[in-house]
Amino acid sequence: MAAPVLGIDLGTTNSVVAVSDAGNTRVLTEPESGSALIPSVVSFHPSGDVLVGHGARDRRLVDAANTVYSIKRLIGRPFRSEEVRRARERFPFELREGPTGGALVVARGESYTLPEISAFVLREVRSVAERALGQAAVRAVITVPANFNELQRSATKAAGRVAGLEVMRILNEPTAAALAYGYGSGQTGRVAIYDLGGGTFDITLLEMQGDVFEVTATAGDTFLGGDDIDLLVAERMADVFLRDNRYDPRGDRQAYERLRAAAEWAKCELSAQPEVELTVEELAYGEDGAALNLNFTMTRREIEAMLTPLVGRTFDVCEDAMRLARLRPAEFDRVILVGGSTRIPLVRRMVQEYFKSEPCCDIDPDTVVAMGAAIHARALAGDVPQPSAPSSQVQVPDNAIGKVALRKVSAERVSLPAGLPPPIAEASNRTAGGPPPAADVVLGSSIVVGAADIDVDVNMNEMLPPAPPPPGGTGGFDAAIMMQQPQAPYPSAMALPQTRADRPAPLLLDVTPQSLVVETVSGYCDPVIRRNAAIPVEQTRVFSTGLDGQESVLIRIAQGESRRYDECQALGQLELHGLRPAPRGAVKIAVTFEIDADGTLQVRAEDPETGQRQGARIALVGGISDEEIAMMAQRQGQHFAESR
Ligand code: AMP
Repeated sequence: MAAPVLGIDLGTTNSVVAVSDAGNTRVLTEPESGSALIPSVVSFHPSGDVLVGHGARDRRLVDAANTVYSIKRLIGRPFRSEEVRRARERFPFELREGPTGGALVVARGESYTLPEISAFVLREVRSVAERALGQAAVRAVITVPANFNELQRSATKAAGRVAGLEVMRILNEPTAAALAYGYGSGQTGRVAIYDLGGGTFDITLLEMQGDVFEVTATAGDTFLGGDDIDLLVAERMADVFLRDNRYDPRGDRQAYERLRAAAEWAKCELSAQPEVELTVEELAYGEDGAALNLNFTMTRREIEAMLTPLVGRTFDVCEDAMRLARLRPAEFDRVILVGGSTRIPLVRRMVQEYFKSEPCCDIDPDTVVAMGAAIHARALAGDVPQPSAPSSQVQVPDNAIGKVALRKVSAERVSLPAGLPPPIAEASNRTAGGPPPAADVVLGSSIVVGAADIDVDVNMNEMLPPAPPPPGGTGGFDAAIMMQQPQAPYPSAMALPQTRADRPAPLLLDVTPQSLVVETVSGYCDPVIRRNAAIPVEQTRVFSTGLDGQESVLIRIAQGESRRYDECQALGQLELHGLRPAPRGAVKIAVTFEIDADGTLQVRAEDPETGQRQGARIALVGGISDEEIAMMAQRQGQHFAESR
């Protein structure tokens, strides 16, 4: 077999790996246990060993402070973000601020970046795959929630690199799920993918036309999932324990962790049973030293009453996506369920009520994403026929397979108004009553050093000339490959039926989940690439100097929908340096922001007058440098060698 490319669903709770080869897509299982689900848990043992997966999950109950889980909901989040603040309250392991503003996990006196923790999981996933396949596998497609921002995608890629993987593509989870369901089925119609996992909720709306999958809208909440349900149940348990024993387990992190594990167990049981009854022994000790047990019962009716508002919040997110797509729920032909939390009967009922149709759940919601990723991975590995265009709107590039061809869909070189004010200005369309016009932009001109960089392409010779937007405003494309009809019901390690090896690869047309903005003046910001733009996409903005002889400028960039910069998620700052000395306003810099097929940001810059490229670096908040990645990979290699 040729070197396989893995499809990896790096989940909040569990991770799954699959491969696709000639006419066969299958989930890989741990040879020893036969398990397809690899818990995304890392535990730092007193011996110095690092346990990952099943062994680590069990240690949550006995060593909560050194056992790290659900890290996916924090990856790429700055330490000072609301999400990390909330996590610090609820997780038993320690989180600390890193030197570039990211969050670090502290365990047994050592600190680890969040990508490094995810890399431990990915290394285990890779090891499971290699043992199952009996050969090395270093290339992978890794999936992420559709609404992951630039920092989160970049951090996921970094995790892959630390784990020694060549990450060929970051793929949106719902798009992967759609591939697994739809490729090769010849179906057409509107599909909604409702994805409720352990930590995140995503809704993605797409049009399927044969083997073309065109996302029309996506929306999500990265803090809404099964973990939140566990907390609700754990709180109820803590109340019962307090009532019965006059002891509040919330003050004892280890005891509370045991409650959370019991809560998750009860929640899952209640998806199948009308009632659960459980005892957690020796949860605490009384003043006389006697063991205090928790005795707890819960009915499905009770948990459903607790969950209804939480599940209801998913439909607020759905409404957001519907608004973007200008559609109503009843206009969808199929609703696909993804994520472990969609096993909850209440979720299924509420989804059915909202969409007015019964959701499909033919493929195991735990493994469907990895299978779609594997299908895409095989396309990227090459060796599949080129896709054909089904309509005049979709054009197939020469290099559609294994490589994304960029089509500029909304690129425009913005001409500057006369008399541009210093120090940096950009022109844009404005609506009346909004914040001050961009021509009033006053941005800092100093270079900030010390933060990590990401690669920036500054080869101006490669810049494409601006292209007019295509009809309908859609454009970018990507390609993947062959897939087979899904089997029912829920085969966990599956070899799907053969399809013709010459079946053309499907086309994936995705969108960017959040607007990319630059800071302007008085705390406002201006969108450069708008939410829901088809990707890959690029947009060029022209900035100019504001000081005589200015040699460098600084542009702050963020993602979000607010007009206020500090209400958006700061991504970092773009440094432009090596500008030619000239009077203020005389030097213009055309900065091209590109969101590639991974959904990650690339930037290049040039002086439009001279055609000279400019040095341009983005210092990402919490970014990780190449040197740091190499160091982490080395440390991890040692840990793994010792643990085995
Ligand atoms: P995922 O992120 O897709 O792996 O989903 C994991 C989440 O699904 C966790 O919060 C699990 O507790 C939850 N889950 C898995 N199975 C069930 C079930 N039978 N009933 C309720 N929740 C479940």
